[in-house]
Amino acid sequence: MQQIAHLSPQLQTFAADVIRLCAWLVILAAIFIPAERFWPPDPRPVGRKSLASDLVYYFLSGFLPKMLLAVPIATVAAVIHLVIPGGFYARAALLPVWFRIAAGMVVGEIGTYWGHRWSHEIPFLWRFHSLHHSAEEVDWLVNTRAHPLDMFFTRFCGLVPMYVLGLAQPMGNRLDLVPVLVTLVGTMWGFFIHANVSWRFGPLEWLVATPAFHHWHHTNEAPETLDKNYAALLPWVDKLFGTFHLPDRLPRKYGTDTPVPAGVVDQIFEPILPHK
Ligand SMILES: [Zn+2]
Ligand SMILES: [Zn+2]
Repeated sequence: MQQIAHLSPQLQTFAADVIRLCAWLVILAAIFIPAERFWPPDPRPVGRKSLASDLVYYFLSGFLPKMLLAVPIATVAAVIHLVIPGGFYARAALLPVWFRIAAGMVVGEIGTYWGHRWSHEIPFLWRFHSLHHSAEEVDWLVNTRAHPLDMFFTRFCGLVPMYVLGLAQPMGNRLDLVPVLVTLVGTMWGFFIHANVSWRFGPLEWLVATPAFHHWHHTNEAPETLDKNYAALLPWVDKLFGTFHLPDRLPRKYGTDTPVPAGVVDQIFEPILPHK
């Protein structure tokens, strides 16, 4: 850390972010690599296709969605504070922190659910989201394989209702605890639900997302199993909107029939460029 003290403030922030992301990668690998080796539903050799590109996406998704979100979220916050009377937010700020966190989880999950569902149902959004579904072997690191604009969109959909309902307090001077905590828990749980581990939660599986729940979201086994399980954390949201699908076994086939380019650069630019 002493070496980065000589850099410009922007470079210091960037260097600190790189160090933070490297440290998290080590922690996540230390948790999930042994877990996937000891509790695999289907044993696999170490290493797999697309490992290098998923590492690139790990760092891209650590930087870009956060940067892309700053201005739109500040704009949304400013607009809703103009439109909705200030007294509403003053009263919302008095709610107990535990309630704002719990409500933020639920409201954020419902927003994320719809952002994710629209990413499947609207062809323009699927151009970006299909990259995440191109994984034919799903494990913890597939969590990061996503187009930065896809990540931006689903996160944006999760954050906006929190700001509208006053669960997030963007105009205060303190750290905005609710969206930070909800995003952090969501990101960590995202690695878990992609992990290639056989853990099941029995009667609690409608309540909290498991790897089996999300692996069924990634299946390409049969048409009737597509477009299910959009929730990242709370499967009952899928039950509520009629997209819950969780058999006892795991899927036999993963991936998508949508063609996705092989290299990271093409994967990033192909959805943005006009399609013939
Ligand atoms: Zn999806
Ligand atoms: Zn996924």
